Amino acid sequence: MEKMTETIGFIGLGAMGNPMSRRLLAAGYTLIVFDKRKETVDALLREGAGEAHSPVEMAGKANRIITMLPDSQAVEEVVLGPQGIIQSFAPGSILMEMSTSSPYSNRMIAQALEEKGIDMLDAPVSGGVWGAGAGELTIMVGGKKDVLEKVRPILACLGSKIFHLGIHGNGNIAKLLNNLLSASLQSASSEALMVGLKAGLPLDTFLDVLRSGSGKNYSVEMKIPNFVLPGKFSPGFAIDLMNKDLDLAMEVARLAGVPVPCGALAQQIYRLARSEGLGQNDTSAVIRIWEKWTKMEARSASEQR
Ligand code: NAD
Repeated sequence: MEKMTETIGFIGLGAMGNPMSRRLLAAGYTLIVFDKRKETVDALLREGAGEAHSPVEMAGKANRIITMLPDSQAVEEVVLGPQGIIQSFAPGSILMEMSTSSPYSNRMIAQALEEKGIDMLDAPVSGGVWGAGAGELTIMVGGKKDVLEKVRPILACLGSKIFHLGIHGNGNIAKLLNNLLSASLQSASSEALMVGLKAGLPLDTFLDVLRSGSGKNYSVEMKIPNFVLPGKFSPGFAIDLMNKDLDLAMEVARLAGVPVPCGALAQQIYRLARSEGLGQNDTSAVIRIWEKWTKMEARSASEQR
């Protein structure tokens, strides 16, 4: 019943926002979209979405808005800027900020919106482009529980696991620490695989061992088979975006006063990957650092022919 009275605005139609907004359309929601790249908007208009030419125009028409933007700078511009959502969003409306962004910036934004009677949740996600298309994202929510309950059906359309972690910004903290761990595992998995190859182990069988043994993780189970072996490093989760997340995670750790030696190493490895020109590749392309050092490539036989 609620669905009929909700108009959802979606801002940021990139690798994640595109499949997420398509899911909302397919579920029958009335959807209005905006992105500063016109070509991404046009594809969704053809599928039945309405268009807004700015965040302020969107906020005048929608009572729910989702942002899926690269970083906090973009989120602040879209929400608080002169053409921002805050200028026209009605009291009682809800912003779901689903980007991986700064918890401290989102707490400031939530405060500014609250002064106008507008609610906000930080609701960053994990699960990648595949999870976005399948509605299988993990969603980490910070903000008021009763606000979450109002938009739970919308979020349930996008993710199969929804966790409420407490106050504004806590969803972001959980997401950033997840990525700190993910970057460490991806680096360590790449290193182990490439040492094995250089030492003469057969690629596919050794990868099967890593997927079965006590070192198994998302990188060896999903990223290496689907991105590295075929040598297809896009689209996915860009190394540039992971660099942003690691910097934010280190800020969380610094403010919490906890040393993070493993995370600091992963941060340096991902900076190195960006310096090597890999910024626009999926995070799994970090393995190319070791491929360069070993002068070998971890590709499946069919891709090497
Ligand atoms: P992306 O770069 O593919 O998409 C971002 C979109 O935002 C682009 O279409 C861009 O044109 C648009 N945009 C940027 N600034 C804008 C502005 N000021 N106004 C309007 N539109 C603007 O990024 P993505 O991979 O879709 O990631 C989006 C967010 O989700 C990031 O915070 C990322 O860290 C996070 N994330 C990504 C993945 C993944 O696998 N790609 C997974 C989980 C979380």
